[in-house]
Amino acid sequence: MTEQSCRLCKGELREVLDLGRQPISNAFVRAEDAAKVPFFRLAIGLCNSCAMVQQLDEVPPNQMFHAEYPYRASGSALIRKHGADVAERIIQTCPRGHDRFVVEVGSNDGVMLKRLTDAGIRHLGVDPAAVAADVAQTSGVNVWKEFFNASTATRIRDEHGPAHLIYSANTISHISYLDSIFLGVDILLAPDGLFVFEDRYLGDIVNCVYFDQIYDEHIYLFSVRSVQAMAAQFGFELIDAEHLPLHGGSIRYTVARAGTSKPTAAVAEFLVRESAQGLAEEATFVEFSAAVDHIRTDLVSLLRDLRADGRRVVGYGATSRSATVMNYCGIGPELLPMVCDSTPEKQGCLTPGTKIPVCPPESFSNPYPDYALLFAWNHAEEIMAKERLFHESGGRWILYAPKVHLA
Ligand SMILES: [Zn+2]
Repeated sequence: MTEQSCRLCKGELREVLDLGRQPISNAFVRAEDAAKVPFFRLAIGLCNSCAMVQQLDEVPPNQMFHAEYPYRASGSALIRKHGADVAERIIQTCPRGHDRFVVEVGSNDGVMLKRLTDAGIRHLGVDPAAVAADVAQTSGVNVWKEFFNASTATRIRDEHGPAHLIYSANTISHISYLDSIFLGVDILLAPDGLFVFEDRYLGDIVNCVYFDQIYDEHIYLFSVRSVQAMAAQFGFELIDAEHLPLHGGSIRYTVARAGTSKPTAAVAEFLVRESAQGLAEEATFVEFSAAVDHIRTDLVSLLRDLRADGRRVVGYGATSRSATVMNYCGIGPELLPMVCDSTPEKQGCLTPGTKIPVCPPESFSNPYPDYALLFAWNHAEEIMAKERLFHESGGRWILYAPKVHLA
């Protein structure tokens, strides 16, 4: 193990989980380009000082978040509803007549900002995924196709004035250089402004063995304790934490300039629970690592048994997290001949590293397989309702967290 230090506090980083060699999780390419997909080592470490859980190696951001980045927030009804709920809350807290300015970091296809546009609230999205940003712009949302950092923040402030709210969903943990993010927030945020961001929660990942939440894009796995330390380091303060059921369990963190607001009781309550769960202790991750290994053994043996019985199994949802599962478990086309996905950009391509063909959703029912391995488990309810006929005709879902089971 190499000696590495924490990206945030320079404390000692201890390796706690190794998921092996992994491809870029969103590298869906045609067969002729499959050999060109870059690989890296996916391993996470725990900082023994600020408790931030983070990747040991990292993929250069331009290999992940390029113009053709295929993720579309509006692809899921659940995410559309969440975007609408967030926008509604912002609109309610922006009384008419007040000239409020809202900036969203990682605005994707504008699923949230569209509502603010319609409500006449001054806003700006910042997102380097140009194709997604084009979708947002077509619906009237203002977007800069750039990475958010200190330099972008300065230009936004010069052009639009200070932001009263900087919001971000599932983006902050993707960014290695958090010092530049917080410097940007410091430059752009009004004195009484709030920085609100949502991200997948380490507590849920550990509790439910959601090891597939670990992939290249998620450089950090946030906990309330580590976010509190991070905010403090940059002159800010974590003043609220709210658990959200999204993405298998997320937290909405509210950060203000230090000393401007009193933290809610929720922050202290989370810290107590995290301490009881051992989220800052290596022993917790030893157990987690063993549970992950157990999932691999059980999942591969189930797929082999089904193949031996002549059963047809397909994957459902060519998600980024499916790359972690398939590559860690060594699941290739011999165990899983295809994965269905509704994203047009992924169809006709191969899954990263494991080279399984991605097919359009119509292939799923034509004919139905005997089993479907559900990679998009965070949308399980939505998907199972939509694919009711599959289950009614005798099909079974395979789920793998917290352990391998059928539904
Ligand atoms: Zn640290």
